[in-house]
Amino acid sequence: MHKKTQCVHSGSLEDERYHGTVSPVYPSTAYDYVEVDTFAYPRYFNTPNQQAVKDKICALENAEDGIMFSSGMAAITTSLFGLLEKGDHVVFQNDLYGGTHHAVTTQMEKFGIDYTLVESMEWEDYEAAVRPNTKIIYIETPSNPLLKIIDLQAIATLARSKGIMTIIDNTFASPINQNPLDHGIDIVVHSGTKYLGGHSDICCGVMLSSRELTQRILKTSINLGGSLNAQVCHLLERSLKTLALRVKQQNENAQKISEFLRSEDNIGGVFYPGLADHPGHELAKRQMMGFGGMLSFEIKSDPGQFVKRLKLVKPAMSLGGVESTITCPAQTSHSKISAAAREKAGIRDELLRMSVGIEDAEDLVSDLQQAIYA
Ligand SMILES: *Cc1c(COP(=O)(O)O)cnc(C)c1O
Repeated sequence: MHKKTQCVHSGSLEDERYHGTVSPVYPSTAYDYVEVDTFAYPRYFNTPNQQAVKDKICALENAEDGIMFSSGMAAITTSLFGLLEKGDHVVFQNDLYGGTHHAVTTQMEKFGIDYTLVESMEWEDYEAAVRPNTKIIYIETPSNPLLKIIDLQAIATLARSKGIMTIIDNTFASPINQNPLDHGIDIVVHSGTKYLGGHSDICCGVMLSSRELTQRILKTSINLGGSLNAQVCHLLERSLKTLALRVKQQNENAQKISEFLRSEDNIGGVFYPGLADHPGHELAKRQMMGFGGMLSFEIKSDPGQFVKRLKLVKPAMSLGGVESTITCPAQTSHSKISAAAREKAGIRDELLRMSVGIEDAEDLVSDLQQAIYA
């Protein structure tokens, strides 16, 4: 099946009793163990709605199996702690989502896990960071906030040649634009709070992989307990039916907006993988099916005033919703990093990161234009 069909039909539950068209919601946390021989319990990640929505996302990511979580961070930390042991070493990309960066730098050491942060998107630099005890290479592409691209195939080949597992946070791309398992990556994680949910009103996460690795991570998941309730599973399943449509519109809008920004004198750098002169453009073309709804740009006037003048585009953290939002990373996600470190990473004070919604591109362009020249 194609993605649009999978979005609607994969992983649905039959309503055998009333033959309704949508999956019934089963909120039970207790199930009769005499009548049903499988032991269902939410924290065992095996209730009907958890399974149904997991199966839909598995179809979209071409994954054998996966686990639904109560947040993206639960998916990320449980996957890491499910595979790692004291004495292991992990190679992380330095341009990580802020929450992941914080979790790595505050949690790993106390469990005796060593790590290296690589400030590069070149696979050779990841190879150089590998040690005899390296167990995992963890990446994000496109990266936050400059939308840098890393070569999935090269990272997967490097890792497999050394018996190392690979994890990618695929939140920014969504399963519509990028399927990393097809390129040899072992585990995909998503913050479902973003594109999968898509309406800025639910918090959830998911990990996807082979059956074997999923079962290994499941053992730790049951102990850590970051499970997702039936109501949110239902809302997520409902949202996923329009994922392909939403992301297609977001891709188109982001391309138009980045081309508009590129043509403006009062705008500095524009960072979007769909622009031909983006350093990762050719690579993105090879490994992505669409360039995504995230972009960033530098404004030559006061970024705070610019954001205040916007009428349609809302200043808001988070991303991936149907509405367009904007943040100033130096004041939000990257505010705890020193100005010198930000400058070194190419994140200037005047950089703005936009999550493009599904509105009409013309209206979004008009809003940006009036804010640039007001
Ligand atoms: C939001 C986000 C996360 C964390 O997800 P939560 O649902 O907030 O726990 C992880 N990675 C990326 C890229 C994100 O944008």
